[in-house]
Amino acid sequence: MRPAILNPLFADITVLTGVGPKIAALITRAAGPRIVDLLLTPPTGLVDRTFQPKVADAPEGRIVTLEITVDRHEAPPKGRRLPYKIICSDETGFLTLVFFHARADYLIKQLPEGARRLVSGKVEDFNGARQMTHPDYIADPEKPGDMPLHEAVYPLTAGLSAAVMRKAAAQAVARAPALDEWQEPNWFAKHHWKNWKDAIETVHAPSAQEELSLLSPARQRLAYDELLANQLALALIRKARVKTKGRAIKGDGKLIAIAKKALPFSLTGAQTEALKEIFADMRSNERMVRLLQGDVGSGKTIVAFFAMLGAIEAGAQAALMAPTEILARQHMESLSELAAATGVRMDILTGRDKGAARTEKLTRLKNGEIDIMMGTHALFQEGVAFKDLALAVIDEQHRFGVRQRIALTQKGPKPDLLVMTATPIPRTLALTAYGDMEHSRITEKPPGRKPVDTRAIPMNRLDEMIAAVKRAAAEGNQAYWVCPLVEESDIIDLTAAEERFESLKAVLGDRVGLVHGRMSGPDKDAVMEKFYRGDLSVLIATTVIEVGVNAPNATIMIIEHAERFGLAQLHQLRGRVGRGDKQSSCILLYKPPLGETAKARLKVLRDTEDGFVIAEEDLRLRGAGDFLGAAQSGFPRFRLADIAVHGELLAAARDDATMIIDRDPELRTPRGEALRTLLYLFSRDDAVKLLSAG
Ligand code: ADP
Ligand code: MG
Repeated sequence: MRPAILNPLFADITVLTGVGPKIAALITRAAGPRIVDLLLTPPTGLVDRTFQPKVADAPEGRIVTLEITVDRHEAPPKGRRLPYKIICSDETGFLTLVFFHARADYLIKQLPEGARRLVSGKVEDFNGARQMTHPDYIADPEKPGDMPLHEAVYPLTAGLSAAVMRKAAAQAVARAPALDEWQEPNWFAKHHWKNWKDAIETVHAPSAQEELSLLSPARQRLAYDELLANQLALALIRKARVKTKGRAIKGDGKLIAIAKKALPFSLTGAQTEALKEIFADMRSNERMVRLLQGDVGSGKTIVAFFAMLGAIEAGAQAALMAPTEILARQHMESLSELAAATGVRMDILTGRDKGAARTEKLTRLKNGEIDIMMGTHALFQEGVAFKDLALAVIDEQHRFGVRQRIALTQKGPKPDLLVMTATPIPRTLALTAYGDMEHSRITEKPPGRKPVDTRAIPMNRLDEMIAAVKRAAAEGNQAYWVCPLVEESDIIDLTAAEERFESLKAVLGDRVGLVHGRMSGPDKDAVMEKFYRGDLSVLIATTVIEVGVNAPNATIMIIEHAERFGLAQLHQLRGRVGRGDKQSSCILLYKPPLGETAKARLKVLRDTEDGFVIAEEDLRLRGAGDFLGAAQSGFPRFRLADIAVHGELLAAARDDATMIIDRDPELRTPRGEALRTLLYLFSRDDAVKLLSAG
């Protein structure tokens, strides 16, 4: 149970003064629905009112605080549209205060003639006269406390005013309780950090630009807390899993030896290494949960197949689940020769299987007459039962949810799990997202691949590109054409893609196909299938083309508005071509002019085809927020930490978490109790539950 001391923080923001249902909806969009969300959303800017020049010296457009004398109120305006004006001055010049829709009695009270006042806001020049429209603050110089010299600026959303958000955040901060320290005493002392409550107060009350820095001591402390909560939760989940004993799968190596002979090539060093790690896991009687990362085309499928052979040698079964039907069929086809050579009985189960044929397949599966079952989501549905599933492999795992992963592993007695992804993830990110898994990386491509000729070309040469695609199609080549991805609106995406579809159809006739995010799965599959069979020369796509699909004749990848894609995405897209033995090219169409970062990003892509290098660079160039924004979902979003900046803190948090689990596995010591509070603070109730379950 969440410690009572945290309960006030988990109350709804509507308990705050000035936050009704309407405002609450806006704050929820900007920060979250609970008070703790406000606490954990740091300000991103600062209004500084300490600059107090004389009227004559006040620069236009910058926030200034001026001490003036109120000379006189002009006669109230006749029309409602006209402003109410108050003439003021200091010894250097005049300043007119301007108010629209003002109430004269209120202004006379606030700014009586002859009084001295502090006014703060932006000064403009209007027809040669200095004026300030609607000052942010009006205060008596005798009571300067009425005007804050510094104000935090929070991330906002349309309709939410800075002042409303600031007031809500201030109330949240005022509710922050003092909490027992969960940080390791030596580490804490070494950094001269403040306690949690002080750090929260400091971060929410910046008084200088550098206090907004991700590297300010208070922010670092809070970032570390967030990272520690993440790493500790992952460590607990991992430990709980290891404790549930798996089974030791030991093959005799016979099938693998046959398969190796039958292969027309030998495994790369990276593939061999990954297999060694996988087999070591399978042999142990702990449950394997391993992530296999490797670029598109790095040869993960063969690795998975060999791992599955290991399970079959041990007399058990294996499953391979892919996100789409077409991908599952491709795996089936590409492995059929090896299956025949080894005598492995392989079959496929998808949503298309119905009625008697399906029943018959399921019976054979249940009786152990199928060794490897390939398939889609259909694999983990009810009614699907294995005789003895020992290894489940999931391809393109980010396309599946955790629940689906679990559903598949429930088809056997604690089967080992191998998940694969072609999205290289920076090391830091892998730690935060997949810290509960073991990792293998295939960093080397099979020999003989021709690098893809990658070029950045401005959009105004579009006609040339269309002509080039036409020539290539005439020679029997195929091209992918990816249209802009505007996250805000798939309707705009769709229009852009449909326009491109029309313009290419005018040139190429019915050899052009279109897939987009609003099509149903089967419709999409049908178009993809046509492209894969060679019935289409050009495939236009709005969404990222189905991962993993292999069309060896596709030699051209054109990406419109390449500047809008993440580097990792561009790299993934490029990986669709360059699979056959022909020279391939990737054209990055961009809208000029390109900013410096965009230029640097396109250069990285031209310079290397190593997905891991590209991922690290992308993270470095764009920072964690943007990187994650463009990446697939499923990555944790930190609010205080930024892994592009706080990489070292992350490494330390990981070590810290390991040590904690070692010394105080049930979090029973006083520090352990405080760490439980930390986990609850960051809503990692899931991890704490594993503790009480013992
Ligand atoms: P991915 O990692 O994208 O799933 P695949 O497993 O589909 O990659 O492999 C891509 C291609 O590379 C396949 O045609 C496969 O047969 C081939 N391949 C895999 N390993 C090797 C190797 N060691 N040497 C040569 N070709 C290989
Ligand atoms: Mg693959």
